Amino acid sequence: MGFDPSAVQSVILTCDLLMFSDLRSLSRDVHDCRRCPLGFSRTHAVPGVGPENARIMIVGEAPGQNEDLQGEPFVGAAGKLLDQLLGGIGLSRSDVFITNILKCRPPANRDPQPAEAEACSPYLEQQLRLIKPEVVLVLGRHALARLLPGYESISRLHGKVVSKDGVTYIPVYHPAAALYNSFLMGPLEQDFKAVRAHLDRAEERRQALAVTATPAPKPEEQLTLFG
Ligand code: URA
Repeated sequence: MGFDPSAVQSVILTCDLLMFSDLRSLSRDVHDCRRCPLGFSRTHAVPGVGPENARIMIVGEAPGQNEDLQGEPFVGAAGKLLDQLLGGIGLSRSDVFITNILKCRPPANRDPQPAEAEACSPYLEQQLRLIKPEVVLVLGRHALARLLPGYESISRLHGKVVSKDGVTYIPVYHPAAALYNSFLMGPLEQDFKAVRAHLDRAEERRQALAVTATPAPKPEEQLTLFG
């Protein structure tokens, strides 16, 4: 089937109106998506995996070759490192929702193009709306440019907590970058420790709120409790 750019353009103009009631219907739509040329060259679309009630959402750049073949994010070498980093802070894949800025593989793993990221952005927005994560881990400079445009570079912002439009983000170095540049491995591990510290602080705040929100027992209840 030939690729008709004018058809893509017309869908890009309307896709901001996308609304999904759950992640399953969103994934179905991604698998059928032809909103940009990547929808014509992919093997499998990669919408993302993880529970809808995940406290943590992880956003990478785009599927690579392994992800394109298997339809799952982070299944290659970078994914193995991601699993190790999560394990190092007491988390596993089942605790997190993992997705990418682009849901389809760019040919030869080239960088995402702005028009592709724009065409794909309603899916990410809807995933954020449905999951409402406590924190979003922004993996690397491409995800950072998309989610926090105009903010500092990844080398300045990694490991810091950023709040924007009611969402909390922690940018971290991309695991693939640390695989190519071993000097980034230490900073990346520190970034994940910052994520752990943030989650622990949030948990302490939740517990403190639960204690203050619990009404003190009435005197007669105190008697039955302690008398
Ligand atoms: N695999 C993904 O799914 N995303 C990346 O950004 C890198 C590898």
